[in-house]
Amino acid sequence: MNTVAIIGGGFSGTMVAVNLARLSERPLRIVIINSKRPLGRGTAYGTSRSEHVLNVAARNMSALPDFPTHFLDWLRSRSEYSDRAEGELRELFAPRRVYGDYLRGLLAAYENPIDSRCQVQIETIEDEAIDVKIDGRARVILKSGLEIEAERVVLATGNQPPRLFPSSSPLRHDPRYRSDPWSDWLSRLPAPGGKIVLLGTGLTMIDIVLTLREIGWDGQIVAVSRGGRLPQSHFRGIAYDDFLPEDTQTLGLNGLRSLVQKHCDRLRQMSQNPAIVVDKLRPHTQKIWRSLTGDEKREFLSKNASEWNVLRHRIAASVHSKVTDALDSGRLQIVAGTVERLVPGEQEIEILMRDSSGAEFTQAGDLVINCTGPMAELSETASPLFSNLLSRGLVQSDELDMGVRADDEFAIINSVGDAVGVMYAIGPLLKGELWETTAVPELRGQALRLAETLLHREPRQIVEAEVIEYYI
Ligand SMILES: Cc1cc2nc3c(=O)[nH]c(=O)nc-3n(C[C@H](O)[C@H](O)[C@H](O)COP(=O)(O)OP(=O)(O)OC[C@H]3O[C@@H](n4cnc5c(N)ncnc54)[C@H](O)[C@@H]3O)c2cc1C
Repeated sequence: MNTVAIIGGGFSGTMVAVNLARLSERPLRIVIINSKRPLGRGTAYGTSRSEHVLNVAARNMSALPDFPTHFLDWLRSRSEYSDRAEGELRELFAPRRVYGDYLRGLLAAYENPIDSRCQVQIETIEDEAIDVKIDGRARVILKSGLEIEAERVVLATGNQPPRLFPSSSPLRHDPRYRSDPWSDWLSRLPAPGGKIVLLGTGLTMIDIVLTLREIGWDGQIVAVSRGGRLPQSHFRGIAYDDFLPEDTQTLGLNGLRSLVQKHCDRLRQMSQNPAIVVDKLRPHTQKIWRSLTGDEKREFLSKNASEWNVLRHRIAASVHSKVTDALDSGRLQIVAGTVERLVPGEQEIEILMRDSSGAEFTQAGDLVINCTGPMAELSETASPLFSNLLSRGLVQSDELDMGVRADDEFAIINSVGDAVGVMYAIGPLLKGELWETTAVPELRGQALRLAETLLHREPRQIVEAEVIEYYI
């Protein structure tokens, strides 16, 4: 019996396993190796807190692209959602822990199948994969010393942890600093009236502000980032005509920018949100990205990516209004500046920063949490797995060093440029190749396609219009 080893048990790894299990017509052994985050839930859906809600409406969160209402139907089967009106349920931003239950349940159905005809066995191992050796077959080496032999290996390891900030003395064991925003920080809250500094003003920062509000913590929160910009709220959009040319391949970065500019201006004139342009582009983003040259991609990253990210990553209106309340009441303050260094003092941790004119200033916090998001460069990884794979040339960084190189079928391209077809990648690891590869609407399609590739099956024809409804 063939074995597929999947490294990483978040959304991506889980859904590759589920798709393999539901599509395989032959006996197959699947081994999911997962560490640090809860199996089936991963980083995003591993939270146990109800105030952490999805940032995509329920109608677009099916984990299965060929069953667009799968998540909605599952929600409907739960007593707390069963009598919600259809329209209300479709637009619901459900708690992420509930979405985690959905994914965990999908996996459990195949881990312990009640259908005796199921030919697939799924095993899960709580351990860290630290290396893969390939010699015809693959051997995944685990931290515990265990080795898993497999015909195919899927790298579904998610995002890298945030970058470490330079510090005047080591912060690793300092109880006033949390480098991982998903680890426990609630047990380290400053005394009432204290101050928490959040490094970053994106979605992770919002999660923490919501939790502090929920528990009624009454101190001051300062959130810092280079531009000091906050995620925007979702909004009810309008049906806007498709504006992309038939052949997006020839647009180039300049063509794309002027098209986007033109339609943003037009939407503003219509008193509509220009973010509609990003939503309209989304089904085509990967194709457009792949058609850009390396220089164009680099230019986009340095000049346009931060604006793109603000328009692209939006939050539920209810979450946005809670953050606005915190700002209005003065409990939350946003500061623009670049963090240079952290200096742990006797009482507080000082954060040395520079403003846009280059002038130095400081902030100080009783608790400092790094919410800056994943480190971008793969070559600087602290992961033993990727250090080993990179050093032996089994994977290579993509041209932007944001993840690994892979072909159109997600097969890893090694350092001599060969797609050997033993190791595959999915999810945020493909950011340099695809740009848009972090959220469920893209990952569910990748998970299905990758399972089909591993099973040598033709791709299913999915009617995109049914599935992709981005604007609300
Ligand atoms: C806070 C947050 C909220 C989000 N909300 C939404 C949302 O509402 N809607 C949406 O569409 N998208 C959302 N996203 C995007 C989200 O990234 C994806 O939906 C998806 O969860 C990514 O899953 P993944 O499996 O690729 O990565 P992850 O969830 O990070 O899972 C990777 C897993 O692999 C493990 N791992 C890594 N390396 C190894 C190793 N060497 N050995 C063993 N295990 C390893 C990790 O510890 C982790 O458990 C959100 C993301 C975050 C971070």
